[in-house]
Amino acid sequence: MAPLPRATSATERSSTARRRIQEYQVTERLIVIGGDAAGMSAASQARRLKGPDELEILAFERGRFTSYAACGIPYWIGGLIGERDELVARAPEVFREKQSIDVRTGHEVVGIDTGARTVTVRDLAAGEEAEHAYDQLLVATGATPLRPPVPGIDADGVFGVQTLEHGQKVLDALADRDPQRAVVIGAGYIGIEMAEAMLLRGLEVHVVEMADQPMSTLDPEMGDLVADAMRRMGMHLHLGVAVEGIATGEDEWIRGVVTADGTLEADIAVLGTGTRPFSDLAADAEIPIGPSRGIVTDRRQRTPVDGGWAAGDCAETFHRVSRSPVSIALGTIANKQGRIAGLNLGGSYSAFPGVLGTAVTKVCEMEIARTGLGETAAQAAGFEVVAETIKGTTRAHYYPDATPITIKTVAERGTGRLLGAQIVGREGAAKRIDVFATALWNEMTVDDLLNVDLSYAPPFSPVWDPILIAARKVDGAVRAAGL
Ligand SMILES: Cc1cc2nc3c(=O)[nH]c(=O)nc-3n(C[C@H](O)[C@H](O)[C@H](O)COP(=O)(O)OP(=O)(O)OC[C@H]3O[C@@H](n4cnc5c(N)ncnc54)[C@H](O)[C@@H]3O)c2cc1C
Repeated sequence: MAPLPRATSATERSSTARRRIQEYQVTERLIVIGGDAAGMSAASQARRLKGPDELEILAFERGRFTSYAACGIPYWIGGLIGERDELVARAPEVFREKQSIDVRTGHEVVGIDTGARTVTVRDLAAGEEAEHAYDQLLVATGATPLRPPVPGIDADGVFGVQTLEHGQKVLDALADRDPQRAVVIGAGYIGIEMAEAMLLRGLEVHVVEMADQPMSTLDPEMGDLVADAMRRMGMHLHLGVAVEGIATGEDEWIRGVVTADGTLEADIAVLGTGTRPFSDLAADAEIPIGPSRGIVTDRRQRTPVDGGWAAGDCAETFHRVSRSPVSIALGTIANKQGRIAGLNLGGSYSAFPGVLGTAVTKVCEMEIARTGLGETAAQAAGFEVVAETIKGTTRAHYYPDATPITIKTVAERGTGRLLGAQIVGREGAAKRIDVFATALWNEMTVDDLLNVDLSYAPPFSPVWDPILIAARKVDGAVRAAGL
């Protein structure tokens, strides 16, 4: 390299040096597969740390939207949110113009070659395929809804609600066909949120669930409270009933959901049968998949394959209480993992600390929340457990609108370590789960928890908040059970 000319001023020499550094700078290319929570959090975070001359970012999304809130779909369908675009946090053009992230919607990645470090991408509108080279690859392909493998499940009028496109199809069907009866298949949280949406739209709602309770992530007696509430709201529950098929008319539109107990008439059906990590693309490329079917990553979100990263619903993580590998499809986790992948891709260091499976939902007025392990799950994980349930009120009993709340708390026998909590109640109940989650995160005992200095005034809680009453009751049981 030629020496810097001597006869120039220091400022000129410094700007020439900077130009030369730029010329020799290596620009890496990051390819992101999946343009929602995990993928675009990672892309944005990496961009904050590295400019376009250091890191070129190319994101492929097979749908039309980026950074959309799938979590809002049931409320949009239920009519609580007016416009679809309210659910889009950042449109592709904003990524392109404001962050120099080259987002290509309508582009599906159909193959990964980890040896050659290329991806094959299909332009869905043009029907053409092209190869793109990468230095780093982030797989953020999300989860895919489980479809019961029964005849007719792909019939017209049977809808998943995973993307905004799916949500739009449900709304179109409601507008065009004026359905009177909806069958929701599966009573996980998406199923019960969709049951509420259909009820709000004025349909007769039937919910078919293979388990004996809705919300099978709750212990049975807590699930029963949810079932009772749903029935009181006018929903028809068919619990312990498996779907065997979908009956259609000559136009191939759904007419009924066939179950072991007979056929339920249906003008529309919605799938709420849960999801699994959508890791197929990675698996085909021999990127290791874990026991939960999520892509294996270390705590920095790196896969075992050089240059490969994964985050969000498609990735496996670990449960901080059971210490087991898990894949839990939640936006909370996807956003955090995306941010962490982005920090690492941007040259910083960050590690994902695992999950507790903390989740809240509601069906009409009934709020539901959980964190950590339920009694059954804790036993299955090998803990000796003590569990207690309390009933209280969300405000001082004499204050207007004090509503009932039930809390089940699970602790380890002998040590009193908190293992998990579940809450079912009305307004003001569910978010109390965050106190339990924080205690669990810090591996507190129920004795620690019951002395925490929580706030009190009659409009917000009784003087002994139901959280403290729950901790006190299970602490008593731990003491009575001895070592
Ligand atoms: C109805 C509903 C309600 C929900 N409610 C909540 C809630 O209340 N709280 C909560 O925490 N979570 C909720 N979730 C879950 C939450 O939405 C997800 O956990 C979160 O969106 C996961 O983000 P992700 O980026 O990992 O995956 P996704 O959001 O699924 O995004 C993955 C993206 O990858 C794209 N993609 C997949 N394969 C390819 C490919 N080969 N090429 C190109 N693009 C591809 C997909 O089109 C998709 O846009 C809800 C989900 C649904 C469906």
